[in-house]
Amino acid sequence: MAGKKNSVVDGTKAPSRGRFVNTGNGPTFQEIDIGHSDYVAIIEPKTAFWSLVPKDGHAGVRDGELLKSYGKKAEQFAKEMDTLRFGLKPSAVYFNPTERCNMNCTYCYIPEQMRRKGEHMPEKKLLQALATLKKYFQRTLPKGVMPQVIFHGAEPLLNRQAVFAGIEEYKKDFLFGIQTNTALLDDEAVAFLSKRQVSIGISLDAPTARISDRTRKNWDGQGIFKQVVAAMERLKGYEHWSVICTVTDANLRHLNKLVDFFHEKEVPMCLMNILRCTLPESRSLKPGDAEAARYFLAALDRTYELYEQTGRRLPVGNFANILLAIIAPAARRLMCDISPCGGGRCFFALAPNGEMFPCSEFIGLERFQSGNLFTDKIETVLESEPFRLVTERNVDTIDPCRQCAIRHFCGSPCPAEAHEMNGGMDKTGAFCEFYEEQVRYAFRVIADGKVDAYLWDGWDKDLKTTFVY
Ligand code: SF4
Ligand code: SF4
Repeated sequence: MAGKKNSVVDGTKAPSRGRFVNTGNGPTFQEIDIGHSDYVAIIEPKTAFWSLVPKDGHAGVRDGELLKSYGKKAEQFAKEMDTLRFGLKPSAVYFNPTERCNMNCTYCYIPEQMRRKGEHMPEKKLLQALATLKKYFQRTLPKGVMPQVIFHGAEPLLNRQAVFAGIEEYKKDFLFGIQTNTALLDDEAVAFLSKRQVSIGISLDAPTARISDRTRKNWDGQGIFKQVVAAMERLKGYEHWSVICTVTDANLRHLNKLVDFFHEKEVPMCLMNILRCTLPESRSLKPGDAEAARYFLAALDRTYELYEQTGRRLPVGNFANILLAIIAPAARRLMCDISPCGGGRCFFALAPNGEMFPCSEFIGLERFQSGNLFTDKIETVLESEPFRLVTERNVDTIDPCRQCAIRHFCGSPCPAEAHEMNGGMDKTGAFCEFYEEQVRYAFRVIADGKVDAYLWDGWDKDLKTTFVY
């Protein structure tokens, strides 16, 4: 019978040898306009393989040699993407040592009642938790890989004695970090943390008290700008510190000035994270996608200008991660830009009472309580239904993301936001155009050969070239 050789054997594959682009079993290359005068990008979305090709004629899509070379590597790329999306084990924990906070920021994801009147984790319990985590990581991580523990908010320094005792006792077992609003980050705390090479993340949303204090204030409505600036002075010269800015409708128009401010204060790295709209209170500060993208990209432009003028970089970590995800998909560090995301897969969050959550975004959402570090086996909790809801959220099943060429550079974040704001894990989150514009910008940076200016020193140290054409 004609065609028998190629007939469907397992009932799942079409009888095609995949010789042609965009038909049968051939690779699907989608073209995207990156807003560049000379180039467009063509992307094979499943493997996140891409090429920049000249706009005029763009022979690249049909180029036989490119296809032949791609064909030889396609399986490897698919495997790498599969491992990145489904094969990783947790190597980090966001550890909340207290429910309480001395601040009442408008967009905080931790319920007010907890932050006002919540509990600290007692020192004894905190040490016990670190001992349990140490044993877990010894069972699961390859030898030589050091797990990370990031003390996170509410405000970890409200439970300073317990946190510092944990760092002291386990400094050889974990890479420690702490995220603080700086109200309690005095000279003594900086000396203790920097001596032990603890990464210190602080939060600041704007370059002036007038704007910053709109969203970041204490229970009496007093802003914290002055204390943050004092902490920045204390941290000057220390290698391992960074500043997180939450991009909202309240500070969006001042991001350019914020970049200048960070640069002047010699901030080694910053993050400009778009607001998460998981809780209803945050949504009052949600900026429009197009406007958010415009100001955010202008701020990135400003980091480039300053680099040109001074030779000093100010990497914007969340954007740098997208850039890295495009250049070397498996080398990305943060995990909101792939789906399933990192929540419950690459890390998990621990509440002060020992409850485990896939990510801090879920703390306070009862539906996502999954088990307790003090009473349950970590491996069992990671397989619980609330964790699986997050770890099985898959961009390939979400509309319109499953058809989107950049879905492995965006990841359709965030599951918490999608679930709470838009009604389900199979929905998109709060932003789409913002992420589209960010990826298009990243491709323009690559097309213009400016990658180095946006990443940190030595970003390519351990990278291997896997494709040359
Ligand atoms: S996308 Fe949301 S749930 Fe996932 S890691 Fe990012 S913040 Fe956490
Ligand atoms: S959110 Fe938008 S940009 Fe991101 S994967 Fe979905 S469709 Fe694409």
